[in-house]
Amino acid sequence: MPPMEKMGSESKPKSEYPETKPAPEDVKPEDLAPETLKKEAPEKKSADGLWKKSYPRMALFISLAAVAGLIVSASALIFFGERSGRPFSQQETTPPALSLPQFHTINKGEGETAEITEPVFEVYTPDQAPDKTPESEKDKAPVKYPGKAAIIIDDLGCDMTMAKRILELDAKVTLSALPYCPFTTQIIDLAARKGFETMLHLPMEPNEYPRFNPGPGSLLTYMGPEELTELLLATLDSMPGIKGVNNHMGSRMTANSGHMDAIFSTLKDRGLFFIDSRTTSKSECRSSAIKADIRFGERDVFIDHVQSSEFIRKQLKLLVKIAIRRGSAIGIAHPHELTIAILEEEIPLIKRKIKLVSASELTHYHKRLAEK
Ligand SMILES: [Zn+2]
Repeated sequence: MPPMEKMGSESKPKSEYPETKPAPEDVKPEDLAPETLKKEAPEKKSADGLWKKSYPRMALFISLAAVAGLIVSASALIFFGERSGRPFSQQETTPPALSLPQFHTINKGEGETAEITEPVFEVYTPDQAPDKTPESEKDKAPVKYPGKAAIIIDDLGCDMTMAKRILELDAKVTLSALPYCPFTTQIIDLAARKGFETMLHLPMEPNEYPRFNPGPGSLLTYMGPEELTELLLATLDSMPGIKGVNNHMGSRMTANSGHMDAIFSTLKDRGLFFIDSRTTSKSECRSSAIKADIRFGERDVFIDHVQSSEFIRKQLKLLVKIAIRRGSAIGIAHPHELTIAILEEEIPLIKRKIKLVSASELTHYHKRLAEK
């Protein structure tokens, strides 16, 4: 079974970046002093002369201590927030690392989904992930009516029944499977027979590693170029027929250009494209892809990191909007019951507005684009 981790039944997005809160620099000591101290203390008649004299000073001291305390707390929150890569709102609810289950096992009944594990995914919401496409390149992107969008469904490999449902969708979605999972090769083969494009969903080191383990075949930052290449080649050999790769997690790995150069030179040798899932704003994938001269694309929308009908429909609308506005858009979804049910409903409507295509169609040689 794949050692994928999942935090219980948590379905909250695992944002990479904490919301930053301003340090209370503009808070003055007098603002923090209680009204009684500010106004009454100097005039207050007290039998205790010593206390009377020191009262205003005490108030000032307490106020300054309160400000210092606030600043220290805010700094600690920002620091630890960044280290754990989670928003403050989730900090208090994060269970200690040791209590995290290594396997999230779901019993669904019989047969192909009798016991499956669900991998955790990293999410990077649009407001936190600035579009790094250079303006010059955006202008050159060919905008053709009706606009094209690709929907990649990744994290596949553990659940054959869900994969079969995806292959019944009335659109050529792209299936991206994790390596070394119980149904990975079966899913790749079946998808290829049905004319669907398939990809390797390549596990890479996240910032939260080892607390979150991306699973078997993971590329990790301690590995040198040779080890990375060897492991990647073995993984690619285990999944014949795939046309491209996107990263599973990888917020730490994709921010390391040296490692990405090594990974992309292997993809270049194999003639594979890469789609950056964009789990970090610090991703070096685009520049490494240009250096390696491989076909490259970037995820625009995460469709279902919040498992609610309303949210998923909203994200699909956003995908369509970007495709119309810019000519193309790439969305990533996951093999959840609710996601697939909504895709079954929405795909016929989406197809009236834009063209749904395989992921490879929306990848480009960015170097050559820039030179045009
Ligand atoms: Zn993933």
